[in-house]
Amino acid sequence: MQDMTVLIVDDDTFITNLTTRMLKKLGIERVRSAKDGHDGLSEIGTEKPDIILCDLNMPGMDGLEFLRHLGEDKIGSGIILVSGEDKRVLQTATQLAKAHHLNVLGSLQKPIKPVPLKVLLDKFDEQQSASRRGPITLLTLEAVQEGLHNGRIDVFFQPKVSVPDRRLVGVEALVRWRSEDGRLIPPIAFLPVVEENGLIDELTAQVFQIAVGAAADWVQSGLNIKVAVNFSVDSLTRFDLVDFLVGTARDKGIDPDKLILEVTESRIMEEVTTPLEILTRLRIKGAGLAIDDFGTGASSMQQLKRIPFTELKIDRAFVAGAPTDDEARAMLESSIALAKKLDLTIVAEGVETQEEWDLIERLGVEIVQGYFIAKPMPADDLLAWARANGDVSS
Ligand code: C2E
Ligand code: CA
Ligand code: CA
Repeated sequence: MQDMTVLIVDDDTFITNLTTRMLKKLGIERVRSAKDGHDGLSEIGTEKPDIILCDLNMPGMDGLEFLRHLGEDKIGSGIILVSGEDKRVLQTATQLAKAHHLNVLGSLQKPIKPVPLKVLLDKFDEQQSASRRGPITLLTLEAVQEGLHNGRIDVFFQPKVSVPDRRLVGVEALVRWRSEDGRLIPPIAFLPVVEENGLIDELTAQVFQIAVGAAADWVQSGLNIKVAVNFSVDSLTRFDLVDFLVGTARDKGIDPDKLILEVTESRIMEEVTTPLEILTRLRIKGAGLAIDDFGTGASSMQQLKRIPFTELKIDRAFVAGAPTDDEARAMLESSIALAKKLDLTIVAEGVETQEEWDLIERLGVEIVQGYFIAKPMPADDLLAWARANGDVSS
C-alpha cells in the first residue's frame, strides 16, 4: 500500500490536511491535493494517481461533474467518494460514478475515519494484486451466453464450522466458471457481465440446482448439512422463485430448512415489496436468510430491520483488521452485540489466521468460514474433507 499515490480533491483545506495526515499514518507518502474539479483534472493531467478521494460539494467544478469527466477519460484509478451530505446522496453519487464505468471503491462520510478509509484502500490493493496474479479480464457477453447454455457453470463449496468444536455445520456454494481449457475462473471475472445483461436468474438457477444436487449426494453418503446460496436482493423479482427453489430442493429430497439464502443489496432498490415477500415466504417455509457482507453495504442496518434474517455474516474486512486495529475491533464487537440482540446466528467470514480465530472465539462468534479452516472446493473434495474432519456418520 505504501507506494500508492493519492489525489485529494476537496475545497476544505482542513479536511485535506486531516486526510493527508491519516494517509501518512498508513504509510502513504505520495499525497497530492486539488481544490475543485478543474484543479483535479489538471493534477491528473500531470500524473495519474492510483486513488482519487473526491469531495462532492465544491465551488467551481463540483464532484459529480468531475466524475463525469473522469468517466469520459476512462480513468482506471480507484475512486473514493467523500461527502458531508447524507448517505442517500453518497449512494446516488456512487451509482452515477459506476454508471460512468469508474472504479468506485466506495464512499466515506465526513469526518473521515481511519478504519473505513483503510478498508477501501485495502480493496484497491487487493484489486492490484489480483490483477498481478493474472489479468482479470471480464468474460465477453457472447462467452457468457454460450457458457450458460453449455455447462460452463461449476460450483465450489466452502465449509462453515462451529467455533467450539470445529464441526461442519454447513457450506456456502460459490460459483466458478470452467473455461474451455479447464481453467477455473472466479466470479469477479463474469458476475458483472451476468448481472448487467439480465442473466443472473439463469446463473442462480444453475448454481442452486448444482448445490442441492450435491447436498442430496452428501446425504446419501451420510452427511447432512445446510447449503447456503448467494442472491442479490435486486434479482428477487419473480414470485415463482419461491416455488422453484422449494420445488427443486424437494425433488432432490432436500427440505427447505436445509437451505440458506445469503442476501446482498448491490444497488439502491426502488421496489422492495417483491423481494421482501419472496424472502418472507421462503423464511416461512423454513429456509434460513443470511445478511451477507455485514458492515460494508450502506443499507445494512435498514435491511436488518426489514428482512426476517436468521444469520449475520460479518465481512472479512472487520475480521482481518480486528486483532491489530481498535476501530475495526469496535465494529466487529458491535456487529456481534447487535446480532446477539436480534437473535441472529453470527458467522465470521474470511478468518485466515490462528490469531483471528482466537479473537473471534473470545468474542463469542458461533460459526467461522475462512481459509484458516478450508478453501472453497469441489463437492467430492468436500465429502472427503468432512470425513477427515469426523462429520460423516456412516
Ligand atoms: P461472498 O459471498 O462474500 O463469498 C465469500 C468470498 O470470500 C468467496 O470468494 C470466498 O472464496 C472468499 N473467502 C472465503 N474465505 C476467505 C479467506 O479466509 N480469505 C480470503 N481472502 N477470502 C476468503 P469468491 O468465491 O471469489 O466469491 C466472491 C463473491 O462472488 C462472493 O462473495 C459473492 O458475493 C459472489 N458470488 C459467488 N458465487 C455466487 C453466486 O452463485 N451467485 C451470486 N449472485 N453471487 C455469487
Ligand atoms: Ca456469501
Ligand atoms: Ca460475504
